[in-house]
Parts: sequence; structure tokens; C-alpha cells
Amino acid sequence: MSTPSDEHGHDHPKHELSHYAKRIYAIRDLLVEKGVITEKDIQSQIEYQEARSPANGAKLVARAWVDAAFKARFIADPKAACAEMGIDATAINEFVVLENTERVRHMVVCTLCSCYPRPILGRPADWYKSFNYRQRSVADPRGVMSEFGLEVGDDVEVRVHDSTADIRYIVLPLRPKDTDGWSEADLAKLVTRDSMIGVMDPLSAAPE
Ligand code: FE
Repeated sequence: MSTPSDEHGHDHPKHELSHYAKRIYAIRDLLVEKGVITEKDIQSQIEYQEARSPANGAKLVARAWVDAAFKARFIADPKAACAEMGIDATAINEFVVLENTERVRHMVVCTLCSCYPRPILGRPADWYKSFNYRQRSVADPRGVMSEFGLEVGDDVEVRVHDSTADIRYIVLPLRPKDTDGWSEADLAKLVTRDSMIGVMDPLSAAPE
């Protein structure tokens, strides 16, 4: 859970750090001291990690909604489609796009740990990594969706996909109704992280 002090993360005095955090800092200091990596390497890696966010996924989904040819390429060869959009997905071994339809909807989990399409969605939420989600998304996906606020009818099949070190998924949600003629940029604003994990729908088109 996020706390106010988390938001200012690096201000923690070291005595408040957990055992594992202290160990990480000690390893970092040693690696720098021995010249294996530099402070600059660490900083640029942090910036790279932080730059990856669900905005990447939202761009891909919005483009797929407005451009059928792109959508076909995105499904056939997701990593190439990412490259086309300037998104580096090369860190993912096998990347799969799961297209929701009126009859089938997809939901993504990593039952073993927390595998997640980080180049596309950034860092996973705490709930995604929780044992509760990892266990219950498989046992009762409809119940989990319902807790997110999404009721899925019995006429819709739910498929749960288990991510691994080798394979990462993104859900391509259905385009919200009443968005004809919307710009790609405006559509992207409707695409939430949770809709690309499959536990929610995108935001709906709110009348101005
Ligand atoms: Fe995992």
C-alpha cells in the first residue's frame, strides 16, 4: 500500500529500511566501489524504468482502435508493432496480444510471481503481485472482476492467461461505445492500465 512517505521514497533514513532494502543498498555501494557499475548507470536505468508506463500500452490500443491494418499487425507481430510506435519491447521474449470480443474476454495474471509486460505497462501494481490476486484470478476470475467493479455476463466466456518469464500478455479491450470520430489521442485517455490487464473495461465516453 502506498503511504505518504513512499511518495518521497528516497528520503527514508537508512535505519528505517527493511533488511532487504539495506542489503540492496550495500550491494549497490559495493558494485559502484568496485567499478562494476557507476552511479550514472544506476540513474539512467531508474529513468528508463520510470519512463515505461501504461501510456505506452494506451498508445498501442488507441492506434489499434482507429487503424485496422495496425491492429492486424499488432496481433500478428506485437513486438514489431511496438517498434513501429517507437516502443521498445525487445526485453519481452514472447509478447501476445489478447483481443477481447463481445463473447470472450481475457484476464492476465502471473500465478508464480509477478511477470508483467513492463515495457508496455511499466511497473506492476501491488495487487497484481499479491498472493490473493494470483490465486483468486484463476479460481474465480468473475469474482475478482466484480470486485474491480466489472460484472461479466454468463454469455461471455472468461479466459485467464498465466504469464511466465518467457511470455507476456496485453489485453486489447473493446473500443468504448459512442466514440466514433474520436481522435487517437482522446481514445488513448480512455485506456486504463487495468483494462489492459483485463480486470476492467476502458473508461466510457463521458458526455462533455
Ligand atoms: Fe512472474
